[in-house]
Amino acid sequence: MISVKGQEILLKGTPICRGIAIGKPFFFTFIDDSVPEFSIAPSDVENEVLRYQRAIAHSREDIRTLQKKLENERILEGVAILDAHLQMMQDPLLTRQIETEIRTTRKNAEYVFLNIVKQYQQKFNSIADPFFRERFKDIQDISRRVLGYLRESVRVSLADIPPNSIIFADDLTASDTAEANSGQIGAFVTQVGGATSHAAIVAKAKGIPYVSSVNFEKIEAARNGLVIVDGRTGEIFINPCPATAAKYEKLREQLQCQYQELHHVGKLQAETYDGYRAQLSANIEMSGELDMLHQFGGSGVGLFRSEYAFMTKDRFPSEEEQFEIYCELVQKMQGLPIVIRTFDIGGDKHFMNHQSQEGNPFLGCRAIRFLLKEIEIFKTQLRAIVRASAYGDVRVMFPMVSALSELKEAKAILAEIHQELIDKGVKVAPQIPIGCMIEVPSAAIIADLLAKECDFLSIGTNDLVQYSLAVDRGNHALSNIYNPTHPSVIRLIKLVVSEANHHGIPVAICGEVAADPRFTPLLLGLGVHELSVASRYIPIVKNAIRNTSIVAASKLAEKALELSSAAEVEQLLTSEYRLNVPEDCFYNC
Ligand code: PEP
Ligand code: MG
Repeated sequence: MISVKGQEILLKGTPICRGIAIGKPFFFTFIDDSVPEFSIAPSDVENEVLRYQRAIAHSREDIRTLQKKLENERILEGVAILDAHLQMMQDPLLTRQIETEIRTTRKNAEYVFLNIVKQYQQKFNSIADPFFRERFKDIQDISRRVLGYLRESVRVSLADIPPNSIIFADDLTASDTAEANSGQIGAFVTQVGGATSHAAIVAKAKGIPYVSSVNFEKIEAARNGLVIVDGRTGEIFINPCPATAAKYEKLREQLQCQYQELHHVGKLQAETYDGYRAQLSANIEMSGELDMLHQFGGSGVGLFRSEYAFMTKDRFPSEEEQFEIYCELVQKMQGLPIVIRTFDIGGDKHFMNHQSQEGNPFLGCRAIRFLLKEIEIFKTQLRAIVRASAYGDVRVMFPMVSALSELKEAKAILAEIHQELIDKGVKVAPQIPIGCMIEVPSAAIIADLLAKECDFLSIGTNDLVQYSLAVDRGNHALSNIYNPTHPSVIRLIKLVVSEANHHGIPVAICGEVAADPRFTPLLLGLGVHELSVASRYIPIVKNAIRNTSIVAASKLAEKALELSSAAEVEQLLTSEYRLNVPEDCFYNC
């Protein structure tokens, strides 16, 4: 949605991560035909020319492949058009002239290239004959192809962008956000992306406001202006008028103060006011997040998403590299437990920037399936984890288990590695508690069988919702049916908790719902022992725990279990939450 008031443009998207940011736009991916302009150091000019020549060579190869395909299909008009494209690409205007221009202006290749294409366009526009005017379409076609290659090679990293940037991108991957430096980035604004996509989870962990499903049509106006992002409402103001800017400056300060005020709960227990003590632990992706865990009095790490430490690298890490990382983490835990989840690769998490070739990656070779197939990668990781267990309270958890046999196989490999290390005299913990994630309906339904084999269970609601409701967690267009309050999800949680209790093992929730204080009484009332949330949400959730009683929470859960739709459950949770926290302030920080 777009509305315009004077210079001020208001865009409306889907709020993904709360918070307010005020800053300058930075276009991370490219909009339409826009390209960045930057100077090239004299020593790099010949490399820049080479980069351009490669882009032309790749484009020619593409066209030849396409021509062959058309020939096979006997689409001869198409073959002739592509012949013309090949010839144009040999034209000195597209080769020598651009190379000379790169050398003389010392500007980047795509900038020089696009400027020349624009000059062409002006010339073509002034031609009276419509046939020749139409020929410009061919040049556009070629230029898109060449620009595609040039852009690929200049894709910047979110690790090094100007301070206080508001990132505008078509979409973000988990590794994009993993690289992002939260000190530099004000907010993310994307055209696509769901609230529990892995990119969104990392943005939340870093406290970066995020709004998705934004239509970029009017974004040109933002190029040099100020931008305000309201991650609570999904509003984005471009060139805000002074009154809007002043209002948001004040609001930003207020929210920061509210959040600061909550920090005092860090010293207190995660205990309901009638004395039920819950475990409140942290989900972490990077070791830097541990400072907040200690500051806010978390009881440990309930989920270390180990794949993030390596996702932006260009190869799988060695045992030593992993050992160093795990050891550093374990030592920083100061005796508190840490659950290391083995690599959850696949779905929307790609290693080494390789997109999955599977038609349906979320239903494909992801997580434990990948590890049991790539056994050496799995063993290497387990060896590093087991060695790190000598230095603290380390627990291992397997992701996306969907059958008992997977859990048994993974456990057997872990036991074998543990024994091997002991036999070699390597220092390791005598026992390593093993946990199983419940993220797939089949696992929830056989929770009794899985519980018998484990020391703890952890319910990953982000995936459990996705797989129960058959709705892609990253698809913003379906966000209205991605409902953690769906009765099926509540019943599955109840089932898993009952089985865990029956077998005397603890059960945690580590999906995003655990960080939403509206869910706190429901989850405690369902019998969940532990909530694991991004460190920065510990004060908010601890406050919610301290504001509830276990008796009231159990009654609320009973009521919720009787409701028949996601909307009714959501309504129940929101109205209960408002009763306890009337100003709705903490949910908004
Ligand atoms: C989950 O699925 O809820 C979970 C915690 O795992 P991830 O978000 O990493 O898939
Ligand atoms: Mg998951």
